[in-house]
Amino acid sequence: MEENLWWEDFLNSQETEDGFIITERSGILHDRDCFYADRIRHGNRTDMIRPSAGLRFCRYCQRKAAIRNGITDYGNYKIYEKYFDQNQVSTDLLIRLFVEKGAEATIFADGIHIVCGEDKWKLKWNCKKGRSILKHNNYVRSAAGSRYITKGYHEQRIRRNTVPEAICYIIAYDYEAYHGETN
Ligand SMILES: [Zn+2]
Repeated sequence: MEENLWWEDFLNSQETEDGFIITERSGILHDRDCFYADRIRHGNRTDMIRPSAGLRFCRYCQRKAAIRNGITDYGNYKIYEKYFDQNQVSTDLLIRLFVEKGAEATIFADGIHIVCGEDKWKLKWNCKKGRSILKHNNYVRSAAGSRYITKGYHEQRIRRNTVPEAICYIIAYDYEAYHGETN
């Protein structure tokens, strides 16, 4: 009698567009499409990477796993990969954004839209001279120091107008820390 292992069904499934496999013994996390994943006979499946101190990534597939964890449109994976490669975004930075911060990215006509916490950002495809590559949702500040997010976006000035710099800005942004008490 032939018995299907859980991971065979999992790997053969074309319906699931996300997914990671954590090896049972070593606890190393692999992307579903990792070269090594079909050799794993004992492992746990997870749909989302949750940051934890003990989490270790497979070195072969960690970049792909980080990107997969953060994008809502997996069919566009190749576009993200090319964009992050061409703009020299490090794997560490992608892990910080898409795993530790839990940011979610989606591709639109004007750029990559990123939701991080309650804030929305855009990484613009085409950046005119003198304009910032990064846009941030508009908001108004109340007298009490809290804020309300409103319609539209404003240009977010960053020190160097590069994609890694923009991603660092998104990761570091914390409204309470920057505006809550002091302004
Ligand atoms: Zn792997």
